[in-house]
Amino acid sequence: MTENRHGFATDAIHAGQEIDEVFGAVVPPLHFSTTYAPDGIGNLRRGYDYGRAGNPTRTSLQTQLAALEGGRHAFSFGSGLAAEDAIIRAVTRPGQRIVMGNDAYGGSYRLISRIHGDWGIANTPLDLTDLDRVAAEMSEPDATLLWVETPSNPLMSITDIAALAKIAHENNALLLVDNTFASPYLQQPLALGADIVVHSTTKYIGGHSDVVGGAVITSDDELAASIGFQQFAVGAVSGPLDAYLTTRGLKTLAVRMDRHCSNAQAIAEHLVDHPAVERVLYPGLPDHPGHELAKAQMSGFGGMVSIQLAGGEAAARKVAEGTRLFILAESLGGIESLMNYPHEMTHASVRGTELAVPENLLRLSVGIEDVADLIDDLDTALAGLERRG
Ligand SMILES: *Cc1c(COP(=O)(O)O)cnc(C)c1O
Repeated sequence: MTENRHGFATDAIHAGQEIDEVFGAVVPPLHFSTTYAPDGIGNLRRGYDYGRAGNPTRTSLQTQLAALEGGRHAFSFGSGLAAEDAIIRAVTRPGQRIVMGNDAYGGSYRLISRIHGDWGIANTPLDLTDLDRVAAEMSEPDATLLWVETPSNPLMSITDIAALAKIAHENNALLLVDNTFASPYLQQPLALGADIVVHSTTKYIGGHSDVVGGAVITSDDELAASIGFQQFAVGAVSGPLDAYLTTRGLKTLAVRMDRHCSNAQAIAEHLVDHPAVERVLYPGLPDHPGHELAKAQMSGFGGMVSIQLAGGEAAARKVAEGTRLFILAESLGGIESLMNYPHEMTHASVRGTELAVPENLLRLSVGIEDVADLIDDLDTALAGLERRG
C-alpha cells in the first residue's frame, strides 16, 4: 500500500484520501453499495465485486492505517476483538500456545482462553518484563505466538518490543503488539520488529467514542494473505459508515494525542502528591519502572493514567462515582475524559484469574478538555475521602 513518505500528521490527512474523480470532492465519498457492476462478465472496474470482499471506503481507511503504522498491509474489522480473532485463526493451529502478558486487556484474554482455548489453543499469561522467563517459555516448540500489550491495560507496564521481537524470532515464533493504548502516533511496533500490530480502533484511532472497530497491520505478505483471507471468508469487516468515521477520527490523531499526553502528564504529576492517592501508574513519571524504556520506544507517554487509592476499594468506588467531568464509563481514547473501575467494569471478566486487577485501582482515560477543569474535578472527588482521614 502507501509508502510512508511524509510526516505522520500529513499521512494521517492524505494517505488513502484521493480526490473524487467525478465531482472533485475533497473528502472521498462514502460508498454504501454492497455490489459492483463489472464492465462485462469477469471485468471488474476497480477490483471491487462485493462488499464483504472489498469496499472503497474501507480501502481508504486501510491505506491510511498501513501508512500510519509503517506497514505494507492493513485490514479493518468490525471490532478490535474481531481483528484479534482473525489473527489467531490465521496464525495458530490446535496444539499451539500463545504466550501473553498477565495484564492484557480482559477481553483479549477471554477470547484467547474461552473461545480459542476450547479449540485447542493453549495460553500462558506471564510478566513480560521478565525477559528470561519469556525466553524460557518461547523456547518450547508449541509456543508460536507472543502477545504483547504495551503500555498494558490497566497497570500501565511497559515491555521492550525490540527485545521481545528478538526472543520470538529466535524461536521461530511471531510477535504481535496490541498498540491500542499508544496509537501509531506514539509507538511504531513494526519498526521495532513486531510482525503484527492490532488495534481496537474504537479507542484513540476513532477518538470520538462513536464507532467500534478493529485493525490489523503487517508488512509480511504471507501473513497479510492469510489474515486477508480470514477477513474475506469469515466476514467480520467494518461497515462503510464505521470505516468512514474511523478515517475521519484518524485524520486528527496527532493533535489529539499531543493534548492527551500533556493533560495526562499534568494530572499524573498533580496526583502523585495527593494524600488520598497511594500510587500513580503513568509511564511519564520518572519513578515509573518503565519510564526509561517508554522514553526510548515511544514518542510520548499517552493519555491513560491509573491510580491506586490509599483508602482501598471503598475509596476507589467513591471517587469513581464522584467525578462530574470524568464520566464513569468503559472504554478509553475518546476526546472526553472517562473514569473506569476495572475490577468491576472492563476487567470483570478476569476476576479470580491470574489477570485480576487490584480493587483500589481506578483507570483514567484523560481527554482533551482544559486540564485545569479536569484537575479540579478530580480534586473535588478526592476531597471527600481526605476529610474522613
Ligand atoms: C478495547 C480493547 C480491545 C478490544 O477492542 P474492541 O474494539 O472493544 O473489540 C483490545 N485491546 C485493547 C488494549 C483494548 O483497549
